[in-house]
Amino acid sequence: LISRMQPFGTTIFAEMSMLATRTGAINLGQGFPDTDGPRVMLDAAKAAIDAGRNQYPPGPGVPELLEAVAAHQERFYGIRLDPSSQVLVTVGATEAIASVVLALCEPGDEVVTFEPYYDSYAATIALAGATRRTSVLRFPDFAVDEASLRAAFSPRTRLVLLNTPHNPTGKVFTRDELELVASLAREHDAWVVTDEVYEHLVFDDAQHVPVATLPGMAERTITISSAGKTFSATGWKVGWLSGPAEAVAAARTVKQFLTYVGSGPFQPAVAVALGLGDQVYAGLRDSLQAKRDLLCSALETSGLQVARPSGTYFVIADAAPLGAVDGLDFARRLPEIAGVVGVPVSVFHDDQDAARTLVRFAFCKKDEVLLEASRRLAAAG
Ligand code: PMP
Ligand code: GLN
Repeated sequence: LISRMQPFGTTIFAEMSMLATRTGAINLGQGFPDTDGPRVMLDAAKAAIDAGRNQYPPGPGVPELLEAVAAHQERFYGIRLDPSSQVLVTVGATEAIASVVLALCEPGDEVVTFEPYYDSYAATIALAGATRRTSVLRFPDFAVDEASLRAAFSPRTRLVLLNTPHNPTGKVFTRDELELVASLAREHDAWVVTDEVYEHLVFDDAQHVPVATLPGMAERTITISSAGKTFSATGWKVGWLSGPAEAVAAARTVKQFLTYVGSGPFQPAVAVALGLGDQVYAGLRDSLQAKRDLLCSALETSGLQVARPSGTYFVIADAAPLGAVDGLDFARRLPEIAGVVGVPVSVFHDDQDAARTLVRFAFCKKDEVLLEASRRLAAAG
């Protein structure tokens, strides 16, 4: 394995899901729902298979999905896109991130991102031969620290890789915070690649602000999303990116040689899902908000300090009261202590001190699963 990939080994999600399988603990580690998305979407995939859409689809994506992504961006955010030149379908958001970072970064370029960061960011930046420069979001409020963000920029900054709503913190960036990122990007003539896969999973009165809607940002912003989160279909691996035609064309060139095309029959089905009524989007959000409240209360009852998330389906808790000293070691022992699996937040950090005893739990699970996890955590607390 080449030296720059050596730090990445096996992902924490694979390790923790294997741990859950081996121990029988409840898996609140890897983020995937345990219920299916909209019935009409599932039926549309079957119909596409039966209709013989089983060969290579067009490289950029099937036309109805390109159009559905463009229509979605206009319907929810007023963003107007040309489906044929400004949208690219990818194999999940993961490939969208990889294709755009590999397309835009030369070896030696710098990428600014916040930590904790989603694990593929660090690995993809390394694959591109670029260097990550981070600014820490600190438990429990995860506010942007202007001084450290400014310090992360330099004349070598090529792009900012942002994620709102943010995994693993559940933070929804405020408009002011995004304006700050945007102004620094403009000052350094950098691209902003914004991972908005949790765009519809936003709670209470928090509001998701797409970076591309900020003044002057559409021309330097590439927006990424995925059906995995919005429609509870993480295994379908249908994602997309959109933005200025030149950046989309660059990503398309790279994507051709990563996967060539995405999976055929799932794309028309996701196009159907994107066109569903507002009540479908709201239904998922409301159900997750109730699950958030259930799990947060349980964690608090068992003595943990919780940072109540405004978005995503993750919550970070401080496990120090349960005896945690080192998060990774603690997460490996959590099945034994409490019969539950979580993910140590320190693996998403360069600054280990920022997250020593923090653990992330996923709440995109059936109520009975969350209730059983709550009982177990209470017994351990
Ligand atoms: N970005 C973030 C912030 C995520 O949480 C995830 C899913 N875990 C992804 C990207 C990857 O999405 P996909 O499964 O569509 O590749
Ligand atoms: N996005 C999910 C998470 O953050 C799972 C990702 C994965 O398994 N690669 O938990």
